[in-house]
Amino acid sequence: MSLILLWELQELDLAIGVLTDKFEGNPLHQEVEDAAARLDRVEEELEQGEQLLQEQRKRLRRGELDLETISAEREELHQRLYSGEVKNIKELEQMEIKLGSVKQKQLAQEEELLSLMEAIEEQEELAVALTRQKKEGAVELHDWQRRLEEELALLGGELAKLQEQRDRLTEQIEPDRLRLYDEMMQRHQGRGIARVINDICQGCSVFISSAQRGFLYDPAALVYCENCGRLLVRFTGEETKAKQADSQQG
Ligand SMILES: [Zn+2]
Repeated sequence: MSLILLWELQELDLAIGVLTDKFEGNPLHQEVEDAAARLDRVEEELEQGEQLLQEQRKRLRRGELDLETISAEREELHQRLYSGEVKNIKELEQMEIKLGSVKQKQLAQEEELLSLMEAIEEQEELAVALTRQKKEGAVELHDWQRRLEEELALLGGELAKLQEQRDRLTEQIEPDRLRLYDEMMQRHQGRGIARVINDICQGCSVFISSAQRGFLYDPAALVYCENCGRLLVRFTGEETKAKQADSQQG
């Protein structure tokens, strides 16, 4: 009977393997990672944008002070030029030229400030859009995280149940049979036990030789498939039912 238990153990281990893959390789992990990366990019862009905005505002303040200085200079020149204080023609000409260049300077400064203000406005709009994207990204990330957590909790619960079943099952199997099981599993990539149905090994679909067939009815015998090397287990539906009834009584 314990060979049937080994086969059941293999079934359980295969189911545990499938669940573990779903747990560890869950596609929601990737979704969470992608959403986190998207949020990171938006946050980085927003941070850079805000830095740039700070620099632009600083430049604007400085430029406005410069403009005030230039305007004051122009005002002063203008007043002196038309105050009648200066009579010397040469000096007046010089002042006129100077006033002209200060006017040019003022115009250029005003133009620069204007384009700077436009750039700031653009940057502010970008910051608003990025802030909205950041909020949306955070919601999206949180949503994926919640879905992943729910999924993992579900899978974790199923895994715990199977693990519990496995613990109960292995308690019923002799230690040397468990060692044999581990050995067969290693040798055959997790499918070291094969059922025999209608004299065919279910591991490799090859007929069992008549010499071996007889041994399969001996519950104490260990019979290996001559073709694939798997440990063979033969049980009928009746045996399965009987076994289930046994375990229910026990
Ligand atoms: Zn085989």
